[in-house]
Amino acid sequence: MHFDILTLFPGLFDCVFEESIVRRAVDAGLVSIAIHNIRDYALDKHHVTDDTPYGGGGGMVMKPEPILGALEAVVGAELVARQKATGNVEVPIVLLTPAGRLFRQEIARQYERHGRVVLICGRYEGVDERVSALAVTDEISIGDYVLSGGEIPAMAIVEAVTRLVPGVLGDMRAVIEDSHASGLLEYPHYTRPAEFRGLGVPPILLSGDHARVARWRREQALRRTLERRPDLLEGADLSDADRRFLARLRAERSE
Ligand code: SAM
Repeated sequence: MHFDILTLFPGLFDCVFEESIVRRAVDAGLVSIAIHNIRDYALDKHHVTDDTPYGGGGGMVMKPEPILGALEAVVGAELVARQKATGNVEVPIVLLTPAGRLFRQEIARQYERHGRVVLICGRYEGVDERVSALAVTDEISIGDYVLSGGEIPAMAIVEAVTRLVPGVLGDMRAVIEDSHASGLLEYPHYTRPAEFRGLGVPPILLSGDHARVARWRREQALRRTLERRPDLLEGADLSDADRRFLARLRAERSE
């Protein structure tokens, strides 16, 4: 899996990508990350990357030429133009923006299947709209709030996609059972000690009965999703037993 990140602040990525799972994935040759400084593609002698907005108003807007120049250098002008002309996305070119569609696990899976993704980090008031018109294939937001730049959203996407690359996590069960993997929130976890500040562990987890543990976990996942994110249940992969359990929970709640 290869990530290209276009940013005005390359140094922000240093410590995040040099630790933990992303670092291990890179060291194992499963993932590669190239950080491109947009400023290197500004052609004027002062390397200007932003300018005042047409129509007035405060703030600065990121100029289109350096970003297009960077994209064409990184993935090739032909690919950029072809994707826009045909609508057939070979390499997703993603603009991070609070006005984009919400990033979800399903989108992380799609990016992993592409094997390569380009992430454009905005700053200031954002990016000249013509970058989207000419090159961007996807506009992504990581939530309904505004950050100062697209770097943290890009880090979130790199981490979410990297977890899905086969071989990155020792135990792929974690990926299958994670919250959002099948449309449900995950069940609660417990580890030693069995008793902590007066709170025990659900006895079933100590029973050694794997089938009952699996059923309990599934029911906890359903219960948690119903309580916290009922909207997710619409798209979740549910068995008949799941539906019966949810109907029972709903009936209990309305009593
Ligand atoms: N004026 C923009 C608006 O209201 O939509 C916000 C610009 S924000 C201060 C600067 C940059 O941070 C954006 O161009 C984008 O790249 C990034 N950003 C901020 N919040 C984000 C979010 N929730 N998701 C993705 N990117 C975000």
